[in-house]
Amino acid sequence: MKSYNSFLVAQQQILDAAKLLNLDEATVDLLKLPQREFNFTLHVKMDSGKTQIFQAYRIQYNFARGPAKGGIRFHPDETVDTIRALACWMTWKTAVVDIPLGGAKGGICCNPKSMAMRELENLSREYVRAIAPFIGVDKDIPAPDVYTNPQTMAWMMDEYETIVYHHHPGAFTDKPIQIGGTEGRRDATARGGVITVREACKKLNIDPTGRFAIQGFGNAGQRAALLHQEILGGGKLIAVSDSRGAIFNEAGFDVKELVMHKLKTGSVLNFPAAKVIPHDELLELDVEVLYPAALENAISDKNANNIKAKIVCELANGPTTPDADLILSQRGIHVIPDILASAGGVTVSYLEMVQDKYSFFWDENIIHKTVDQKLTKAYHRVHEAVKEKNVHPRLGAMVVGVARVAEACKLRGWV
Ligand code: NAD
Repeated sequence: MKSYNSFLVAQQQILDAAKLLNLDEATVDLLKLPQREFNFTLHVKMDSGKTQIFQAYRIQYNFARGPAKGGIRFHPDETVDTIRALACWMTWKTAVVDIPLGGAKGGICCNPKSMAMRELENLSREYVRAIAPFIGVDKDIPAPDVYTNPQTMAWMMDEYETIVYHHHPGAFTDKPIQIGGTEGRRDATARGGVITVREACKKLNIDPTGRFAIQGFGNAGQRAALLHQEILGGGKLIAVSDSRGAIFNEAGFDVKELVMHKLKTGSVLNFPAAKVIPHDELLELDVEVLYPAALENAISDKNANNIKAKIVCELANGPTTPDADLILSQRGIHVIPDILASAGGVTVSYLEMVQDKYSFFWDENIIHKTVDQKLTKAYHRVHEAVKEKNVHPRLGAMVVGVARVAEACKLRGWV
């Protein structure tokens, strides 16, 4: 498999979209780079009594359409370029679903699986102490991402409020409901993805109750499994995986039982009546819908020719390499690109900020309805662009997102 630098990939996507939009040189130069970057170290007292140093990042990619917005990852393999790429993709994602926010991303290079709760809390609070002057509801609003969760946000929000001496629940999203979180956030990313699959099935006349598989059975993957059956009125989940392994059952899994098993044991392995298969085999199964919901570069030039899914719904950020994108497009596989498919999460984060601002919280139905409206509209807008420009869906989504951000930069007089 070719190795890719995610940020170079993200920059090439901007160049491709800019060409189709005839953007001028200054606009392209502006959009090709983050507006602001923070690259810092954190020192945390560990339970052993020793101090450990962690590399951390916060990258605020673009502010033209509103405050920057994006998750914080705890992962040992994070680099400044993966965070830059993720921040860049957040910018187009918020624009594709047309919410008034920019893009950002943060990360800490650490192995959360080997850390105790108290160490994770210290690390989360230390991160906020380092970055507090530069984040906030009108500046940059973090959220969880891989290996961070509502508890992480609760610690971070608490630390932030201690520093600014003021209640500021909207400064972080995906908080627990008891302290300013919103209904509907836990399943928002998956809900948005499944809604786009529903629209794709209608458009392409694909049976929405066929077989499906999920790579990565974490937050997004588990919720997608449950919502696929609820929103599409059926569907047989025949394979799932997590970092420890992949399992298969021809007859389909009982999704609720499987989610309970994962929550109880920490893995999908050892689920009754499941056959263990190699990780890579899951991606190549004969299914109607494949949801990559783990990490980057899962579909590459190595396996793109073997993918048999009719629809690939990218809940993960950056799961398909550029070579693979072309192969899938030539083979007529309908890819719903990450900046569209996984935009439900940031849509509900935005609704959480609005509710926090007014201190008035809505019923879950209002949240679900708004996500449905936003994602349905975005799916069809992207497919208009695909048709207008005669390009594959990722480039179609980029054209929509980049055009909206470029227009905001121009209106502000930046270019
Ligand atoms: P998570 O940490 O809850 O889940 C990730 C899952 O992937 C875990 O079960 C992990 O075991 C599994 N995994 C890791 N490596 C794997 C591998 N090689 N093969 C198979 N499984 C593997 O994270 P999440 O919140 O569900 O996020 C998953 C993806 O979706 C990420 O790319 C994230 O950026 C993206 N995303 C998440 C949200 C959200 O709201 N949670 C929003 C937008 C995008």
